[in-house]
Amino acid sequence: TCGICVEKCPFDAIEIINLPKELQDDPAHRYGENAFSLYGLPAPQEGQVTGILGPNGIGKTTAVRILAGELEPNLGRHADEVDWDDVLEAYRGTELQDYIADVRDGEVTVARKPQYVDQIPNSFDGNTRELLERTDERDALDSLVERLSIGPVMEQSIDDLSGGELQRVALAATLARDTDFYFLDEITPYLDIGQRVTAARLIRELAEEEDKSMLVVEHDLAILDLLADTLHVAYGEPGAYGVITSPKSVRNGINEYLSGYLDNENMRIRPNPIEFEEHAPRTDTHGDALVEYPDLTKSYGDGEFTLEVEGGTIRENEVLGVVGPNGIGKSTFAKLLTGNLESDEGDADLDLDISYKPQYVTIDQHMRVDAFLSSITDQFGSSYWNTEIAQPLQLERIMEQNLSDLSGGERQRVAIAACLSDSADLYLLDEPSAHLDVEQRVQATSAIRRYAEQQDATVLVIDHDIYMMDLLADRLMVFDGEPAVHGRAGTPQSMREGMNEFLANLEVTFRRDERTSRPRINKPESQLDKRQKSEGEYYYAP
Ligand code: ADP
Ligand code: ADP
Repeated sequence: TCGICVEKCPFDAIEIINLPKELQDDPAHRYGENAFSLYGLPAPQEGQVTGILGPNGIGKTTAVRILAGELEPNLGRHADEVDWDDVLEAYRGTELQDYIADVRDGEVTVARKPQYVDQIPNSFDGNTRELLERTDERDALDSLVERLSIGPVMEQSIDDLSGGELQRVALAATLARDTDFYFLDEITPYLDIGQRVTAARLIRELAEEEDKSMLVVEHDLAILDLLADTLHVAYGEPGAYGVITSPKSVRNGINEYLSGYLDNENMRIRPNPIEFEEHAPRTDTHGDALVEYPDLTKSYGDGEFTLEVEGGTIRENEVLGVVGPNGIGKSTFAKLLTGNLESDEGDADLDLDISYKPQYVTIDQHMRVDAFLSSITDQFGSSYWNTEIAQPLQLERIMEQNLSDLSGGERQRVAIAACLSDSADLYLLDEPSAHLDVEQRVQATSAIRRYAEQQDATVLVIDHDIYMMDLLADRLMVFDGEPAVHGRAGTPQSMREGMNEFLANLEVTFRRDERTSRPRINKPESQLDKRQKSEGEYYYAP
């Protein structure tokens, strides 16, 4: 044994040579003998936004249930040996002391936004207005509805809302409550970048103007950076144990996370750093054309929505990124390319073999993951396939499960694997980051990138995660217009031109972190923001 556990080590910690010092203390909570243990707790601060960055299954929800007073922590002992006074004693002298005293005395109130907004319709019958009016304790609803653009769906049944609408309604419902402590478990799924930035600003305002404590779990690093004042990194072995670090500045926390090494903890969490390039990829490497498509148009119904596509070229062996707001026609364009939809004008008959992963993944047959994937490729199980696909997408552990039993993130990873495993001329991935935690995004990004390079594959990726796009794409296709009314798709252009056009539409500028070159959103109206806007350099500022 390693000296922490009396019995056999449940999580092979013996193999961790660099045993974190946190693991030598008592955990905050252990669910039972040989069950998941949580070490450390985040410390919410009045008037501040505290972020947690880490994979799923690492104990973030457990920590929040403790801070909300819903789960009495047992400090790793038998529950009947521990009460709140012992917990308070264990945290005496730490930042959490006062907070835990309040929890013990039942004085903390919490509003919580759940991670999986898709499940809200199962627990609520009624329309958006009815749901929101029940939560409006701060008399803030009108302003939240306006800023989150919920107006058009106020009378709509909750059952009929899209993922992005549900996410915004859930945010408004949580922020309208009047409590001491707000917990937001992921704010960005299904939202486009403009909506993500708005959500981040609303949360910051509530902390700053009303002196509330906000605790946010978020996997989109650009948004987390904009949103949080301090950051706890969570690491460990998902499902076995998790450690929540002391608070770091948000900049250092993200930098350390990306570098794969936590300085204070003296802990390596990943073998390789994630590196961003300061300058846009070179544009003078002209690959041959894989396909040239003409100008296209497509309308739905009686012209309720119209998409105009400017003709363009997709080059062999490139990763072409696609960005733009929700409801602007990106998926419609994907369907025109795949031939699932016919254009009104222009002929998109591309005569290409396309492997397509749709935005909403619907693989849910009663079939095991291994049987499903081996039906797609005879490479299944080869050492190449294992190293390049199964490992980075963390499929080993779920191979024997049924597709219908998978969680959202697991289903997404299987769908990405299935898309890349098929042999095709063009791989088309619609929102691969959805439902993936931060570490899975990093891994999926490098799997897609490596696959493109090693297989000379051509890949088209639609996504809202700016970091993922920066790491993945060689060129960019930008959509704009008026969501749900008309969309316009520009011809593919260089990353620099594309990012400038896209971010100018949003009026958002980025700077580069000095240490890691990662992109960071500038504060609106800051000197840098104004200068970059006047120079038209929204992203790769010289
Ligand atoms: P996260 O929020 O980071 O995804 P959770 O706190 O939900 O993680 O869960 C961490 C681990 O604790 C998971 O492996 C989960 O299965 C386990 N766990 C959660 N609740 C219980 C419980 N009531 N009993 C036993 N194990 C639990
Ligand atoms: P994006 O992928 O950019 O979010 P979509 O291409 O999915 O956008 O949709 C663009 C617009 O077209 C939306 O307003 C959507 O509601 C509408 N739309 C999509 N599919 C259909 C359809 N089959 N019939 C009618 N309207 C549709």
